[in-house]
Amino acid sequence: SLPTRTEVRRFTLAGQVVLVTGAAGGIGSATARRLTHAGARVVWADLDAERTREAAAEAVPDDEPLCLALDVTSPASCAAAVQATLDHHGRLDVVWANAGVSAFGPLATVDPDTWRQVVEVNLLGSYHVARAALPALVAHRGYLAFTASWASFAHSPGHSAYAASKAGIEALADGLRSELDHEGVRVGVFHPGWIDTRMVTEKQRTQPAFGVLLDSLPGPLGALTPVDELAEVLADAIARRAAKVVHPRVGWALHAARA
Ligand code: NAD
Repeated sequence: SLPTRTEVRRFTLAGQVVLVTGAAGGIGSATARRLTHAGARVVWADLDAERTREAAAEAVPDDEPLCLALDVTSPASCAAAVQATLDHHGRLDVVWANAGVSAFGPLATVDPDTWRQVVEVNLLGSYHVARAALPALVAHRGYLAFTASWASFAHSPGHSAYAASKAGIEALADGLRSELDHEGVRVGVFHPGWIDTRMVTEKQRTQPAFGVLLDSLPGPLGALTPVDELAEVLADAIARRAAKVVHPRVGWALHAARA
């Protein structure tokens, strides 16, 4: 008989080594938790190793995963994280470049250093992670995934730096997919909607204009999605090695906007 969906998922994730960047954050930690429960050996990587260990201990108290300090803006740090993963686990099957930062405000109010930092972490950081991981992913015919955003195609005021960095990630992913297909490496890009993590709630708290923007978005796109709802979608996408995942709430809003 055909395997059930769950069996297929177990078959694909059990024992696989998955390196997650931005793992101490809301989306990274919630998804890493699900991946762990599905049998993956998750390597948690984020700016600060201690904070990452705390996030892992909270999310997967029964596990003792490898936790790494990683700055995605540094090629040397990315190379070290990949090497540490290989030293510890002996293989690397999935890399998810998920670390990110955002800035909010009309163009004239966002200073050049902030603009540069958003592009440097989100876009160049994704590139550095991908470049460091590629030899291992080619060796293991692995999967390379990126977190873009609804903002890479549904534009809104106050988001030029973030939208530019995320549209760049989508182009990076699509370009790499065509390059890596013949190497047996699959490439995925994820587009979450508004998710209830610190990235959004901090801005809601500190920048009133940001709350107005959220309220102005249509229907389900304007509602904050609980992070666990998205984590389920993303863990499933990683198990399937999906090429493109548009969070259902974003799909709904885009459909409504075109109708
Ligand atoms: P978050 O702020 O909770 O997590 C982001 C994590 O990235 C943090 O732990 C942070 O320390 C880490 N990080 C930042 N700079 C880094 C660097 N230089 N090196 C390594 N790690 C670094 O936010 P989140 O919502 O969990 O965001 C995760 C990803 O999802 C980001 O790429 C974000 O842009 C994207 N995203 C979020 C939303 C949302 O609404 N929350 C929507 C679409 C896309």
